[in-house]
Amino acid sequence: LNSRLPAVGTTVFSRMSALAVQAQAVNLGQGFPDFACERSLIQAVNEAMQADFNQYPMMSGAPVLRQAIVAKIASLYGHQYDVEREITVTAGATQALTTTILCCVHPGDEVIVIEPTYDSYVPAITLSGGVPVLVQMETGASGYSVPWAKVAAAVTPRTRLIIINTPHNPTGSVLRASDLQALADIVRGTDILLLSDEVYEHMVYDGARHESVCRYAELAARAFVVSSFGKTYHVTGWKVGYVAAPASLMAEFRKVHQYNVFTVNTPMQHGIAAYMADPRPYLELPAFYQRKRDLFRAGLQGSRFELLPADGTYFQCVRYDRISQQTEAEFAEWLTTEIKVAAIPVSAFYQQGKESGIVRFCFAKQDETLTLALERLQKI
Ligand code: PMP
Ligand code: GLN
Repeated sequence: LNSRLPAVGTTVFSRMSALAVQAQAVNLGQGFPDFACERSLIQAVNEAMQADFNQYPMMSGAPVLRQAIVAKIASLYGHQYDVEREITVTAGATQALTTTILCCVHPGDEVIVIEPTYDSYVPAITLSGGVPVLVQMETGASGYSVPWAKVAAAVTPRTRLIIINTPHNPTGSVLRASDLQALADIVRGTDILLLSDEVYEHMVYDGARHESVCRYAELAARAFVVSSFGKTYHVTGWKVGYVAAPASLMAEFRKVHQYNVFTVNTPMQHGIAAYMADPRPYLELPAFYQRKRDLFRAGLQGSRFELLPADGTYFQCVRYDRISQQTEAEFAEWLTTEIKVAAIPVSAFYQQGKESGIVRFCFAKQDETLTLALERLQKI
């Protein structure tokens, strides 16, 4: 077959998880918790099934879940979306991202993507016939940051969409209010749309607030905002997420969504909606993960790894140039097979495989798992 995605292989996450299993390594590679979600969430889904919420929900998602999403966004970020027209439940954030790109990018349109970048964006742009325009983050003493002047310089009359991700996978950096102001200055007066990947919205640390695009009316008016219950409720395998956007944009999203998946499984939607009545699980998430981040960082403090800042997400990036001059992929493979701790090479998040001597660990793990991994990493 004449491939539509000739440059694409199996994702780095699948490859490193398979290697971790084969090597019997502690898997700090692919991002997912190794602990259970709350029983009451499973109970809520059980109850939904028992109550016979088992047929197709509405194409846009179960109304109870859309209501719960609208209420959460309004209370956290002060933006009021319309339940009927402005929220769609998706099969994880991945489908929301791909469907957004497919619904708005025409062949030849340019999409600005900031590298390092989550791996699903560029293939979706390619499938739409769009052209990814890559702008690389800069690294300094305070970690990774977005060079907005370079983003502004990358804008052309063909720019259709800018994709941002905060908190950011893989770097763990978060955008601040000044970043969103810089973005607003770039798009003001243009017809450029925004796709804001906020799947780690509830993992921002050290008392900082999550700068959702929907806090800013002028940005929200042109934005698709995406999140994922998999991350927030420790159920990555459920693959339920959502997208929020102004009605005119959402109408186009739904045209693609209805023929892409049509809709998303019903009992999970009802179960999640019931569980969302209590805001504590997501309000308590920053403290929950900040403690794990601190435990993991403290454990690496005396090691030969150099810690980068970790302001959000459940990822910790480290430099390893005091240990090895191998490429990131080689080093991650060596860590997995010899040290028995799996990691992800950050080069996998660059289209041209840029080497920075940095790998990513996921700390969404039980304390015992982190402790075991740390014992091994400290010995290197
Ligand atoms: N965006 C980012 C930045 C992610 O890290 C992930 C999870 N790996 C996703 C999207 C996909 O989320 P989901 O599993 O809900 O499809
Ligand atoms: N988002 C997860 C990560 O970055 C992995 C998701 C996937 O396996 N596609 O590790």
